Amino acid sequence: MQRVRSFVLKKMSKFFSKKYKDLEAYTPGEQPRDMKYVKLNTNESPYPPTPAVLECARAEAGKLNLYSDPTLASVIGAFSSVYGIDESKIIMTNGSDEALNFAFMAYGDEEYPFAFADITYGFYPVFAKINRLPYEIIPLKDDFSIDYKDYLSRGKNIVIANPNAPTGLALPLWQIEEILKTNPRNVVVIDEAYVDFGAESAIGLVDKYDNLIVVGTFSKSRSLAGARLGFAVANPSIIADLNTIRFSTNPYNINRMTMAVGVQVLRENDYYMENCKRIIETREYTKARLSELGFEYTDSKANFLFCKSPDIGGEELYLKLKERGVLVRHFSAPKIKDYNRITVGTREQMNILLEKISEILGEKKK
Ligand code: PMP
Repeated sequence: MQRVRSFVLKKMSKFFSKKYKDLEAYTPGEQPRDMKYVKLNTNESPYPPTPAVLECARAEAGKLNLYSDPTLASVIGAFSSVYGIDESKIIMTNGSDEALNFAFMAYGDEEYPFAFADITYGFYPVFAKINRLPYEIIPLKDDFSIDYKDYLSRGKNIVIANPNAPTGLALPLWQIEEILKTNPRNVVVIDEAYVDFGAESAIGLVDKYDNLIVVGTFSKSRSLAGARLGFAVANPSIIADLNTIRFSTNPYNINRMTMAVGVQVLRENDYYMENCKRIIETREYTKARLSELGFEYTDSKANFLFCKSPDIGGEELYLKLKERGVLVRHFSAPKIKDYNRITVGTREQMNILLEKISEILGEKKK
């Protein structure tokens, strides 16, 4: 963490524009290189992509002297056939972070700020700040759920992670529909980074609501966090807006290897959806074992658990697990400081985690 922090928090130069004086950069989870950890801190898939994906990347690497296709035709075509959506309703991005940033750039202004939860994906306030947009924070309920009624007729652009991060809690589709219906002058961005692990996707609502933008990623359920591939699905005029932003920032936003790899992953979609089932089973297994150890946790529909122990603080558990080679994510925000977010890995990885937790709790009782 120290290394990541020092990277983003370097003292700024005297030339740095004053417009960024309040910008606090996003702090990504650690990607340690000092030792081999059981890495359960950034919600990556524990299952690597197939050998065919590696072949595609290798074949494209030989053409790296040539720019990638700015129309994104191959990957949009493959996406369109898997999801059964018209190509005019799809844009592919450099990770879903890019799609989210595009939405903030395209739709945020003084009149229509963005509104989002106090406990949610930490990048939303950063996107607002880098685009110098005002934003409104809507607190979660005490049980960490989103009260959809707080978002009705809000008169602001809305962004909701569904399932939410780091809580894992999901809203049912009918509640999202109410939010869409009652905010017709504003866009509603539904960030579905974790949807394949048990929540309902809003993609089917795109034809019905012209203010809906569904954002998704290949980083979690499709094992491509390192390739950076995300997408947005929305009505064609919204996609045209997002493409205007894309062509005004980086027309070659998807590199050749990622584009080829994305097409292959979509061809082998069943393999990735099977992996999601395995992860869901492992999540439920881990929940049951954590209960036996006295933990409380939310009803996560994502590939991570959000849990706390009555016997040890969130930060202490994070540090003690790290000493023992297991990396989880702890957030210092007061409302969630007792909790840890633990990515669901393989059954073997979770057994190591559980063993280390038992050890730590055992030592504390001595
Ligand atoms: N949305 C949420 C809720 C996330 O947790 C993440 C992962 N950090 C992202 C979007 C971005 O993922 P990526 O840019 O890898 O697609």
